[in-house]
Amino acid sequence: MLEIDGLVVRYGARAPVLRGVSLDVGGSGVVALLGSNGAGKTTLMRAVSGTLGLYGGGVTEGSVRFRGERITGADTARTVVQGLVQVPEGRHIFAGLTVEENLNAGALTVRSSAVRERTRRRMYELFPQLAERRRARGGTLSGGEQQMLAIARALMAQPRLLLLDEPSLGLAPRLVHLVGETIREISREGVPVLLVEQNAAMALSVADSACVLDLGRVVLSGPTDELAQSDDVRRLYLGAD
Ligand code: ATP
Repeated sequence: MLEIDGLVVRYGARAPVLRGVSLDVGGSGVVALLGSNGAGKTTLMRAVSGTLGLYGGGVTEGSVRFRGERITGADTARTVVQGLVQVPEGRHIFAGLTVEENLNAGALTVRSSAVRERTRRRMYELFPQLAERRRARGGTLSGGEQQMLAIARALMAQPRLLLLDEPSLGLAPRLVHLVGETIREISREGVPVLLVEQNAAMALSVADSACVLDLGRVVLSGPTDELAQSDDVRRLYLGAD
Protein backbone atom coordinates (compact mmCIF):
# COMPACT_ATOMS: atom_id res chain seq x y z
CA MET A 1 0.00 0.00 0.00
CA LEU A 2 2.65 2.51 1.12
CA GLU A 3 6.33 1.96 0.36
CA ILE A 4 8.92 4.36 1.69
CA ASP A 5 12.39 3.69 0.37
CA GLY A 6 15.66 5.27 1.47
CA LEU A 7 14.02 8.60 2.27
CA VAL A 8 16.29 11.55 3.04
CA VAL A 9 14.62 14.81 4.10
CA ARG A 10 16.15 18.18 4.91
CA TYR A 11 14.85 21.52 6.07
CA GLY A 12 16.80 24.12 4.10
CA ALA A 13 20.55 23.69 4.15
CA ARG A 14 20.64 21.94 7.53
CA ALA A 15 21.76 18.38 8.16
CA PRO A 16 19.11 15.84 7.10
CA VAL A 17 16.37 15.09 9.58
CA LEU A 18 15.52 11.75 7.94
CA ARG A 19 18.63 9.84 6.91
CA GLY A 20 17.55 6.97 4.70
CA VAL A 21 14.26 5.73 6.11
CA SER A 22 12.57 2.67 4.58
CA LEU A 23 9.19 1.47 5.75
CA ASP A 24 6.29 -0.51 4.27
CA VAL A 25 2.64 -0.37 5.26
CA GLY A 26 0.60 -3.27 3.87
CA GLY A 27 -3.04 -3.40 2.89
CA SER A 28 -4.36 -4.12 6.37
CA GLY A 29 -3.62 -3.67 10.05
CA VAL A 30 -1.99 -0.93 12.07
CA VAL A 31 1.68 0.02 11.78
CA ALA A 32 3.04 2.20 14.59
CA LEU A 33 5.92 4.59 14.19
CA LEU A 34 7.62 5.22 17.52
CA GLY A 35 10.45 7.45 18.59
CA SER A 36 11.33 10.15 21.07
CA ASN A 37 10.90 13.87 20.60
CA GLY A 38 12.67 15.13 17.51
CA ALA A 39 13.30 11.65 16.06
CA GLY A 40 11.67 12.69 12.78
CA LYS A 41 8.23 11.08 13.04
CA THR A 42 6.26 14.18 12.10
CA THR A 43 8.69 14.91 9.28
CA LEU A 44 8.06 11.42 7.88
CA MET A 45 4.30 12.03 8.03
CA ARG A 46 4.74 15.32 6.21
CA ALA A 47 6.81 13.66 3.50
CA VAL A 48 4.09 11.04 3.00
CA SER A 49 1.13 13.42 3.05
CA GLY A 50 2.75 15.94 0.72
CA THR A 51 2.88 18.78 3.24
CA LEU A 52 6.65 18.94 3.70
CA GLY A 53 7.02 21.98 1.44
CA LEU A 54 4.69 23.98 3.69
CA TYR A 55 7.29 23.63 6.44
CA GLY A 56 10.31 24.48 4.32
CA GLY A 57 11.38 20.85 3.94
CA GLY A 58 12.15 18.73 0.93
CA VAL A 59 12.98 15.16 -0.08
CA THR A 60 16.55 15.00 -1.38
CA GLU A 61 16.83 11.22 -1.84
CA GLY A 62 14.61 8.16 -1.88
CA SER A 63 10.95 7.76 -2.73
CA VAL A 64 7.44 7.37 -1.41
CA ARG A 65 5.05 5.13 -3.37
CA PHE A 66 1.36 4.76 -2.71
CA ARG A 67 -0.52 1.88 -4.37
CA GLY A 68 2.41 1.43 -6.70
CA GLU A 69 2.54 5.03 -7.82
CA ARG A 70 5.36 7.39 -6.97
CA ILE A 71 3.97 10.27 -4.89
CA THR A 72 7.22 11.84 -3.68
CA GLY A 73 6.63 15.58 -3.78
CA ALA A 74 2.97 15.20 -4.87
CA ASP A 75 0.60 17.68 -3.27
CA THR A 76 -2.01 16.80 -0.66
CA ALA A 77 -5.00 17.43 -2.92
CA ARG A 78 -3.80 14.66 -5.21
CA THR A 79 -2.89 12.18 -2.49
CA VAL A 80 -6.26 12.65 -0.73
CA VAL A 81 -8.14 11.85 -3.94
CA GLN A 82 -5.98 8.72 -4.25
CA GLY A 83 -7.03 7.71 -0.76
CA LEU A 84 -4.16 8.77 1.48
CA VAL A 85 -5.71 10.84 4.26
CA GLN A 86 -3.92 12.35 7.22
CA VAL A 87 -5.08 13.49 10.64
CA PRO A 88 -2.34 15.94 11.56
CA GLU A 89 -1.03 16.48 15.07
CA GLY A 90 -3.14 19.05 16.90
CA ARG A 91 -6.39 18.01 15.22
CA HIS A 92 -7.14 21.21 13.25
CA ILE A 93 -10.87 20.87 13.21
CA PHE A 94 -12.96 23.85 12.09
CA ALA A 95 -13.84 25.51 15.41
CA GLY A 96 -16.56 27.73 13.94
CA LEU A 97 -18.36 24.93 12.08
CA THR A 98 -20.71 22.42 13.66
CA VAL A 99 -19.74 18.77 14.11
CA GLU A 100 -21.87 17.83 11.12
CA GLU A 101 -20.37 20.59 8.96
CA ASN A 102 -16.89 19.39 9.93
CA LEU A 103 -17.83 15.87 8.82
CA ASN A 104 -19.24 17.15 5.54
CA ALA A 105 -16.03 19.12 4.93
CA GLY A 106 -14.13 15.83 5.12
CA ALA A 107 -16.21 14.40 2.28
CA LEU A 108 -15.70 17.16 -0.28
CA THR A 109 -13.84 14.78 -2.58
CA VAL A 110 -16.61 12.15 -2.39
CA ARG A 111 -18.98 12.54 -5.34
CA SER A 112 -21.78 10.19 -4.34
CA SER A 113 -24.20 11.73 -1.84
CA ALA A 114 -25.39 8.21 -0.92
CA VAL A 115 -21.83 7.27 0.09
CA ARG A 116 -21.46 10.52 2.06
CA GLU A 117 -24.73 9.88 3.87
CA ARG A 118 -23.89 6.24 4.65
CA THR A 119 -20.43 7.13 5.95
CA ARG A 120 -21.81 9.92 8.12
CA ARG A 121 -24.31 7.51 9.68
CA ARG A 122 -21.48 5.04 10.31
CA MET A 123 -19.39 7.78 11.97
CA TYR A 124 -22.23 8.60 14.33
CA GLU A 125 -22.45 4.91 15.25
CA LEU A 126 -18.71 4.71 15.78
CA PHE A 127 -18.61 7.97 17.76
CA PRO A 128 -21.92 8.32 19.66
CA GLN A 129 -20.68 11.48 21.43
CA LEU A 130 -20.43 13.17 18.04
CA ALA A 131 -23.99 12.17 17.19
CA GLU A 132 -25.20 13.78 20.41
CA ARG A 133 -23.33 16.95 19.62
CA ARG A 134 -23.88 17.11 15.88
CA ARG A 135 -25.22 20.70 16.04
CA ALA A 136 -22.48 21.92 18.43
CA ARG A 137 -19.61 24.03 17.11
CA GLY A 138 -16.30 22.22 16.89
CA GLY A 139 -14.61 24.74 19.17
CA THR A 140 -16.95 23.86 22.05
CA LEU A 141 -15.99 20.16 22.09
CA SER A 142 -13.62 18.66 24.66
CA GLY A 143 -10.12 17.64 23.58
CA GLY A 144 -11.15 14.00 23.28
CA GLU A 145 -14.24 14.84 21.24
CA GLN A 146 -12.16 17.05 18.94
CA GLN A 147 -9.77 14.16 18.35
CA MET A 148 -12.71 11.88 17.54
CA LEU A 149 -14.07 14.52 15.17
CA ALA A 150 -10.71 14.87 13.43
CA ILE A 151 -10.55 11.09 12.92
CA ALA A 152 -14.19 10.88 11.80
CA ARG A 153 -13.70 13.76 9.37
CA ALA A 154 -10.71 11.96 7.84
CA LEU A 155 -12.75 8.76 7.49
CA MET A 156 -15.44 10.71 5.63
CA ALA A 157 -12.95 11.00 2.74
CA GLN A 158 -13.05 7.19 2.26
CA PRO A 159 -9.33 6.67 2.88
CA ARG A 160 -7.48 3.64 1.58
CA LEU A 161 -4.82 4.44 4.16
CA LEU A 162 -5.19 6.61 7.25
CA LEU A 163 -2.23 8.49 8.72
CA LEU A 164 -2.65 9.45 12.36
CA ASP A 165 -0.15 11.81 13.96
CA GLU A 166 -0.08 11.63 17.78
CA PRO A 167 -3.80 11.06 18.31
CA SER A 168 -3.30 10.55 22.05
CA LEU A 169 -1.51 13.86 22.61
CA GLY A 170 -3.01 15.83 25.49
CA LEU A 171 -5.77 13.31 26.23
CA ALA A 172 -6.67 11.82 29.61
CA PRO A 173 -5.75 8.11 29.97
CA ARG A 174 -9.37 6.97 29.61
CA LEU A 175 -9.65 8.80 26.29
CA VAL A 176 -6.28 7.48 25.11
CA HIS A 177 -7.72 4.02 25.60
CA LEU A 178 -10.85 4.96 23.67
CA VAL A 179 -8.82 6.37 20.78
CA GLY A 180 -6.80 3.14 20.75
CA GLU A 181 -10.00 1.06 20.57
CA THR A 182 -11.27 3.23 17.75
CA ILE A 183 -8.07 2.74 15.76
CA ARG A 184 -8.46 -1.04 16.09
CA GLU A 185 -12.06 -0.78 14.96
CA ILE A 186 -11.09 1.30 11.91
CA SER A 187 -8.49 -1.26 10.94
CA ARG A 188 -10.96 -4.13 11.47
CA GLU A 189 -13.27 -2.38 9.01
CA GLY A 190 -10.53 -2.67 6.40
CA VAL A 191 -8.69 0.67 6.53
CA PRO A 192 -4.97 0.24 7.23
CA VAL A 193 -3.49 2.81 9.60
CA LEU A 194 -0.03 4.32 10.01
CA LEU A 195 0.03 5.57 13.58
CA VAL A 196 2.65 7.98 14.87
CA GLU A 197 2.81 7.97 18.64
CA GLN A 198 4.99 9.06 21.51
CA ASN A 199 2.78 6.98 23.77
CA ALA A 200 4.55 3.69 23.06
CA ALA A 201 2.40 1.65 25.43
CA MET A 202 -0.77 2.69 23.61
CA ALA A 203 0.80 2.24 20.18
CA LEU A 204 2.15 -1.23 20.96
CA SER A 205 -1.21 -2.33 22.35
CA VAL A 206 -3.01 -1.23 19.19
CA ALA A 207 -0.58 -1.92 16.35
CA ASP A 208 0.24 -5.18 14.57
CA SER A 209 3.79 -4.08 13.78
CA ALA A 210 5.95 -1.12 14.66
CA CYS A 211 9.15 0.60 13.83
CA VAL A 212 11.29 2.81 16.00
CA LEU A 213 12.87 5.94 14.59
CA ASP A 214 15.90 7.49 16.22
CA LEU A 215 17.81 10.50 14.91
CA GLY A 216 16.26 10.06 11.48
CA ARG A 217 16.93 6.34 11.09
CA VAL A 218 14.87 3.19 11.66
CA VAL A 219 16.67 1.42 14.51
CA LEU A 220 14.17 -1.37 15.23
CA SER A 221 11.18 -2.84 13.48
CA GLY A 222 8.99 -5.94 13.68
CA PRO A 223 5.75 -7.36 14.99
CA THR A 224 4.60 -5.52 18.12
CA ASP A 225 4.56 -8.60 20.35
CA GLU A 226 8.27 -9.08 19.59
CA LEU A 227 9.13 -5.40 19.99
CA ALA A 228 7.31 -5.20 23.30
CA GLN A 229 9.75 -7.89 24.56
CA SER A 230 12.81 -5.99 23.36
CA ASP A 231 14.93 -4.66 26.22
CA ASP A 232 15.66 -1.42 24.36
CA VAL A 233 12.00 -0.72 23.69
CA ARG A 234 11.02 -1.60 27.26
CA ARG A 235 13.72 0.58 28.76
CA LEU A 236 13.46 3.55 26.40
CA TYR A 237 9.76 3.70 25.65
CA LEU A 238 7.84 1.67 28.20
CA GLY A 239 9.60 2.94 31.30
CA ALA A 240 10.95 -0.46 32.39
CA ASP A 241 14.20 -0.53 34.41
P1 ATP B 1 7.85 15.44 17.94
O1 ATP B 1 7.25 14.28 18.60
O2 ATP B 1 8.45 16.43 18.85
O3 ATP B 1 6.96 16.06 16.89
P2 ATP B 1 9.22 14.12 15.84
O4 ATP B 1 9.82 12.77 16.01
O5 ATP B 1 7.90 14.18 15.17
O6 ATP B 1 9.13 14.85 17.21
P3 ATP B 1 10.08 16.06 13.95
O7 ATP B 1 9.04 17.04 14.39
O8 ATP B 1 9.93 15.42 12.65
O9 ATP B 1 10.28 14.95 15.05
O10 ATP B 1 11.47 16.80 14.02
C1 ATP B 1 12.71 16.20 13.66
C2 ATP B 1 13.78 17.28 13.59
O11 ATP B 1 13.45 18.17 12.52
C3 ATP B 1 13.91 18.11 14.85
O12 ATP B 1 15.28 18.33 15.08
C4 ATP B 1 13.23 19.42 14.47
O13 ATP B 1 13.84 20.50 15.14
C5 ATP B 1 13.47 19.52 12.99
N1 ATP B 1 12.38 20.25 12.32
C6 ATP B 1 11.06 19.92 12.32
N2 ATP B 1 10.35 20.80 11.59
C7 ATP B 1 11.22 21.71 11.12
C8 ATP B 1 11.10 22.89 10.30
N3 ATP B 1 9.92 23.29 9.82
N4 ATP B 1 12.24 23.58 10.02
C9 ATP B 1 13.44 23.17 10.50
N5 ATP B 1 13.62 22.09 11.27
C10 ATP B 1 12.54 21.37 11.59
